[in-house]
Amino acid sequence: MNKKELTYRKKDLLNTIIKGYFRVLNFTCLQLPLSDSSTQLHHKTYNKIRKSSFLPSDIIQEARKDIWKLKKVISKKLLQDKSKINLNNCSIRLNKRWFKFVLTNKGYPCFKLTYRPKKTFVVPVEIDNQFNRFTDYTKNGWRFDNISLLQNGNIAIVLEKEFEEPEITQHNILGVDIGSTTLAAVTIWDSKKGKVKKQLYLGRDVALRQRKYENRKSKLKSLTDRGSGQAKKSFKRLKHKQNNFVKTRSGQVAKELVNLAKKHKAYVAVEKLSIKGKKHKFNKKANGKISRIPYGLFNQFLKSNCSISEIPYYQVDAYHTSKNCLGCGAINPGHVSSNYSLYKCKKCGRVVTSDRQSSLNIAVKSFLERNLQVPTLRIQYSRKPIPVIGLLRPNDVGLAKSTV
Ligand SMILES: [Zn+2]
Repeated sequence: MNKKELTYRKKDLLNTIIKGYFRVLNFTCLQLPLSDSSTQLHHKTYNKIRKSSFLPSDIIQEARKDIWKLKKVISKKLLQDKSKINLNNCSIRLNKRWFKFVLTNKGYPCFKLTYRPKKTFVVPVEIDNQFNRFTDYTKNGWRFDNISLLQNGNIAIVLEKEFEEPEITQHNILGVDIGSTTLAAVTIWDSKKGKVKKQLYLGRDVALRQRKYENRKSKLKSLTDRGSGQAKKSFKRLKHKQNNFVKTRSGQVAKELVNLAKKHKAYVAVEKLSIKGKKHKFNKKANGKISRIPYGLFNQFLKSNCSISEIPYYQVDAYHTSKNCLGCGAINPGHVSSNYSLYKCKKCGRVVTSDRQSSLNIAVKSFLERNLQVPTLRIQYSRKPIPVIGLLRPNDVGLAKSTV
C-alpha cells in the first residue's frame, strides 16, 4: 500500500528505524558463518543486539529468521566480499503486536507501528486503487496478521483467508465435552427427534496416565533438587515420553471422534473456551490440573481431522453448558460438592453425570445457536419440550424472544 507523503520529521524517523534494522541485519549476517543453526545464530547475536538496538525483540528475531532463510546466498557473498552484501530489498516484518490498522478522527486510514517499546510511528495510507482493493478483500473475509514496512515507507500486506467451512446439513450432532477426568465425553444427539443416540467416554486413560507421569515427575524433581544428575536425566526423558503419549492419544481420540461422526452422519460441536474459561472449567477442583489437559492440542487435532473428512466443526459459546439442567431448564451451580463428577438439579432433583450432561448441552446449544427462534426443545428425558433459553446469554435471549 502506498503511503502518503511523510513530514520531514517522520522521514527522519523512518530512516532511523530502517538504519537500525539494517545494523541488526548486518551484524546477524556477519555471525552467520559461525553458526550451525538458527538457534545458535540467535545466541550469538541476540544479547549484543538487544544492548545496542532500540528495536523490540520480536523484530530482531524476525530479522534473524530472514537471514537464516537466506543463509546460502549470504554465505556465498560473504566469501566473495564482505562489503558486497546487498540488503536493499529487505523490509521489516511486523506481527500483530507491533502494528495496528486505524482510522484517524477524520476517517483517514493509517498504520500505527510500534518501533520500540511504547513509541509509535504512524504511516498514513493513500486512498488509491491499491487501498480500495485492500478494503474489498478485507470486506470479503480476508485477514492479515503480518505486514512489512518497506524501506520507502510503503506497506506490504499478506492477506489470508481460511477455506470455507463445510455447510452444516446434518441433523445429528456429536457434542464433545473436553474434561480433566475424561478427555472427551461424547453425546450424539438427533436434533430432529430430540433423541440421544449414543453417549460414551473416550480417552479416560489419558487422565490416569497423566497422573502417574506427574507423580513420578515430582519424585524425580525432588531427587534432582537434592543434586541427583541421574534423576535430572530421567526427568527429562519422562517429560518427553509424557508429551509423546499425550500427543499420540489426543490424535487417536480425535480420529475416533471423527469416525463416529462419519458413521452417525453427525457434525462435531465443541466448546469455545477462552483461557479464562479453561481456568474456570478445569481449575475448580485442583489448581495445576489445567496443565495436564491437552485442550488446545486435542482441539487442534479434532479440527484438522474434521476438515480432512469434510465434517463440519462447530464451536459453541461455553456459557452455561455445564450448568443448564436438561430435565427442566433450570440453571444450577454445577457439580455436587460431595461428588465432583455428578450434577444435581435443585429444581427437579435430577442427578446425572456432569460431563454427559455437558456434552449433550453442547450439542443442544450448537443447534440453538443456529436456530435462535427455538426457545424450547424436546430432549430425550421428558415428553414435553424443555426450555433451553438458559443456555443462551441474556443478550441472545432477547434476540430469540423477539422472533417467537
Ligand atoms: Zn432440572
